[in-house]
Amino acid sequence: MARLLSEWLPRTESYSPDRLVAVVLDLLLPPTCILCSTPVDKPGLLCGSCFGELSPIGEPCCVSCGTPFELAWHSAEGGVCQRCIDAPPSFERARAALTYDNASRRLVLPFKHGDRIEFAWVLAQLMARAGAELLREADVIVPVPLHRRRLFVRRYNQAALLARSLGRIGGNVVIVDAMVRTRATHSLDGKSAAERRDEVAGAFLVRPRRADQLAGRRILLIDDVMTSGATTGACAESLLAAGAAAVDVLVAVRVPDPRVGQVMRRSYRRRKVQPATVNPSQASPSHVENDS
Ligand SMILES: [Zn+2]
Ligand SMILES: [Zn+2]
Repeated sequence: MARLLSEWLPRTESYSPDRLVAVVLDLLLPPTCILCSTPVDKPGLLCGSCFGELSPIGEPCCVSCGTPFELAWHSAEGGVCQRCIDAPPSFERARAALTYDNASRRLVLPFKHGDRIEFAWVLAQLMARAGAELLREADVIVPVPLHRRRLFVRRYNQAALLARSLGRIGGNVVIVDAMVRTRATHSLDGKSAAERRDEVAGAFLVRPRRADQLAGRRILLIDDVMTSGATTGACAESLLAAGAAAVDVLVAVRVPDPRVGQVMRRSYRRRKVQPATVNPSQASPSHVENDS
């Protein structure tokens, strides 16, 4: 409707039909928050209240997997978490925009399961902020693929929508069909780290016709949700095997893994750090142990 109107209206150098249509539509249908009915400045935005309820993940976090640390001194040598020391991930760096909690669930679940594909733009902007360095350095953006049966039922790959939006924000090349999921994997809920790795092992392949476009490039792999990193790790392994120079991972939300808290507590007790030496202002806004 808006496009038809703007095409029909005359166009001059000093006046844009698109702008006029936008103003008229704003008067008739004032833009509201995508989650509640609070008026906002532009369509497709969150209001201040809904935005304030989100838990962005920032520093301090593991420089490798991006797991938020409760405090900076929870990191091991070089700012890496104990899990990455014990089992280094195949990707180089992973970052997430938000902690998975009640607030972020209101965005992610309707986006993933409720056809609210317009949420991709808001999530992508939050991801671009959290992974600014990764986006800037990426040669190619690639989404985690869906199995064809799930794609048929859902009708869209939510990771591909995020990848496209991030490509628009960062000006990067996006190859949405770079990878294929060769089998429908079972849910990873309740599985151990080893069981998760086994479940997704060999499930992701690079399409041979896309291999040339990935060889020697730094890839930014995109997904909506990350828990243990088994899925993104398996994708990264396939991309590296196909010749990619390096793989970084950027996701919308990170599900706090209760095992991370256990490992961090063990690591802390081993190193016997005195809380009195810590600057309270370094406290992370997202507390892993409370959010699990
Ligand atoms: Zn709102
Ligand atoms: Zn880590």
